[in-house]
Amino acid sequence: MNNNMSPAGSLERLRALDKERMHISRAAALLQWDQETFLPSGGIEERAEQLAVLEGLAHEKLVHREVGELLDRLSDVLSLNDAGMLLNTQDGFPVGDFIRVLRRDYEKAVKIPVDFVRECAKAEGLSQAAWVEARKQKDFTAFAPHLEKMLNFARQKAEFWGWEKSRLYDGLLDYYEPSLGVKELTAIFGPLRDRLQLLLRKITEKPRPGDVFLHHNFEKAKQEAFCREVLSGIGFDGTRGRLDISAHPFTTTLGFNDVRITTRYAVSDPLSGLFSVIHESGHAFYELGLDNALQYSCLAEGTSMGIHESQSRLWENVIGRSRAFWEPWFSRLQDCFSAELGETDFDSFYRTVNTIVPGPIRVEADEVSYSLHIILRFELEEKLLSGKLEVNELPEAWNAGMKDYLGVECTDDAEGVLQDVHWSMGAFGYFPSYALGNLYALQIWDTLNEEIGPVDTMLQRREYGDIHSWLKDNIHCKGRSKEPAELIREVTGRSLSADSFFRYIEQKYSELYGI
Ligand code: ZN
Repeated sequence: MNNNMSPAGSLERLRALDKERMHISRAAALLQWDQETFLPSGGIEERAEQLAVLEGLAHEKLVHREVGELLDRLSDVLSLNDAGMLLNTQDGFPVGDFIRVLRRDYEKAVKIPVDFVRECAKAEGLSQAAWVEARKQKDFTAFAPHLEKMLNFARQKAEFWGWEKSRLYDGLLDYYEPSLGVKELTAIFGPLRDRLQLLLRKITEKPRPGDVFLHHNFEKAKQEAFCREVLSGIGFDGTRGRLDISAHPFTTTLGFNDVRITTRYAVSDPLSGLFSVIHESGHAFYELGLDNALQYSCLAEGTSMGIHESQSRLWENVIGRSRAFWEPWFSRLQDCFSAELGETDFDSFYRTVNTIVPGPIRVEADEVSYSLHIILRFELEEKLLSGKLEVNELPEAWNAGMKDYLGVECTDDAEGVLQDVHWSMGAFGYFPSYALGNLYALQIWDTLNEEIGPVDTMLQRREYGDIHSWLKDNIHCKGRSKEPAELIREVTGRSLSADSFFRYIEQKYSELYGI
C-alpha cells in the first residue's frame, strides 16, 4: 500500500475494494438463484464448486491486509475534526457509517481462523445431510451427534468474536440483530408469550370458521396470472426484478436494480403462493428502496434480519391479510376462479384468509400462533447454548413446549424438533428475527398510520404510492447506515416493544372471533 496516499485517496481505494467484493458476492448470488430455479440436476456438483470458489474470493477480499490498513488509517482521519469533515461530505455518501460497518464485517471475518471455517463448512455439509435423513426417518437420535457438533462450533465462533463464556448466545444473537441479547429478548418475549397464549386459548374455544377453499382445485397457471397482476398492482417494478418458481420461496439481490423473488403454487390453496409473493416483494421493496449513494458498498443492504423481516411481514400480513386490501382484489380473484369462488361471499373469504388453527409446523402457522413457535425456539436455544439443556433432552422439551404454548401434540420428530433446517446449518440466534419482524412491522405501521393515514382508504382504492414513499424515506433508503435500534427509535420515537403488535393482534382477532 502507498503510505503517502491522501485520506480521499485511501477512501477511494477502500471503496473500490469493497465494490469488487460486492460484485463477486452478487455473481455468487446469481449462481445460487439459478441453482434454486432453473439449474438442471446434472449441473449441481460443478455449481457447488463454482460457488465455493466465488465465496472464497469474496472472503479473501474482505479479510485482505490492505482493507485492515485502510480502515485504520481512515478511522484515524475521521477522529480528527477537519479532515473528518472533508471525508464526511463526499457526494452524500455516509463515510463514517461506511467505515464503522465495514470494520465490523472485517473484524467478524478476520477473527475466525481459516482452518476453523473449513472445518465448520465440512461439518455443516454432513450435518445437513444427516438432518435430511433423520427427518425422513422421523428419528432425532440419528441427528443428535451432529447437532452437538454444530452447537460446539457456534459456541467457538462466539468465543472467537470475543464473547465471554457466560454470554455466548448473546454473541450469536448479536450477529443477526445487534443490541438485542438474551436479557432484552426475554423482557419482550416473556410477556408477549403469556398474552398470546391466553388469546389463543380464547380463540380455540370458539367455533372454527369454514374453509371456502375446501373441495376445489385451483389451476396453477391461473394462480400465477393472478399473482403477477397483484405483484404489479402493489408496485413491484418489473424492470428491476422478476418472479420465478422454487421449492422454497426466497428473495435475492443481484444488483442495485435487479432483485429476484420466487414462490411456489399449491393446487389446494390459491393463496399460499400469493402470500409468498407478497411476503418476498416486501423484502424486495426494501432492497430496491436503498439510497443511490449507497450503491456498490457494504451499506447497500438491509440493516438487520429483523428489520428486513418487518418489511415482508408488513406487506404479507398487515396489508395482505387486511379487509381493506381484499375489498378491491377479491372480485378479481373471483374472476380468475369463477367456478371455484364465484358463489363465495366476501366475509367467509376474509375469515378463511385469517383462520387461526394452532398446528405443529412453524411455516404454516397463523398470525397468532407464529410468534409462539419462535419464542419456544429462542428459549430452547438459550438453554442449549448455556448448557441448561442437553441435546438428548431436546425432543422432550420441544414437545412439552408445543403442548404448553400452542396446545399441540407433535406426533413425531419430523413434525416436531426436526422440522426446521436452521440448527443443522448451525444458525443459532437466527429464529428470533422472525418474531422481531412482526414486532417491528406493527410499531412501524402505527407510525406510518399516524403520519400518512388512514391507510385503509388507500388500500380500498389500490393506491400504494404513499405507503411506498413513506417506507422508502424512513426505512429503506438508509440501508445499513443506521443500526436497527437507532432506526426504530428515530422512526417511531421509542425503543422496540411488543405493544403495537399485540394491540393489532388482539383487536383484529377479537373482532373476527367475537371475543
Ligand atoms: Zn422473509
